[in-house]
Amino acid sequence: MSKQLILASNNAKKLRELQALITPLGVELVTQGSLGIPEAEEPHITFVENALAKARHAAREGQGPAIADDSGLCVNALGGAPGVRSARYAVDAGRIAEGMGRDLLDPANNAWLLDQMRDQTDRRAHFTCLLVAVRHADDPEPLIAEGNWAGELLHDQQGEHGFGYDPLLWLPDHQQSAAQLAPDIKNGISHRAQACQQMLALIRDRWGLGHGDRWPWQRA
Ligand code: IMP
Repeated sequence: MSKQLILASNNAKKLRELQALITPLGVELVTQGSLGIPEAEEPHITFVENALAKARHAAREGQGPAIADDSGLCVNALGGAPGVRSARYAVDAGRIAEGMGRDLLDPANNAWLLDQMRDQTDRRAHFTCLLVAVRHADDPEPLIAEGNWAGELLHDQQGEHGFGYDPLLWLPDHQQSAAQLAPDIKNGISHRAQACQQMLALIRDRWGLGHGDRWPWQRA
């Protein structure tokens, strides 16, 4: 048996990505859905507050340590928008109805962003990923890791891979958009990958790994 960490997300892709990195530590991720825990609200205006709220919720409901993430695109010329509203940018603007699938939502978000950036010469933007881990719901010392992946916004969509705003973020180092990068290259360098690597180091250094199937603070 391995030590368990509750993942406050039911996204299979995130689970696979994080599990691959965390397995060497002898830690098993279990999704909150598999424990019957409902999704938490994300009412806050910062990534860190949303991730913290989700982690505390999962730890409280699941009675164990939990990890949560929040991510989005931040554009310098828009004061960090769309930020935590990235997934709903076009919905908030009334450009698309609530409840649409990604196949319609992603293009609507991208089109609305291009609209907002018309005539804007400062095109700097970055994806941000915040990961927060807590030992228990009232943990006074949440572990916080942050990854940033910066580039410049294109004027048209380029590339077929990825999701969300990937076709709009040009990566000067690669001379490709995030949607033109091969998926395994993206997964190795993205904001999420950076935050995951940092979080693993934090878990090892701050929490310690204890022995067998117990975290250091868990009694036999
Ligand atoms: P979530 O944290 O996975 O819900 O992501 C929030 C939103 O941010 C997504 O719906 C996308 O619009 C955007 N986003 C986050 N990460 C990425 C990425 O790697 N590529 C493109 N868009 C992203």
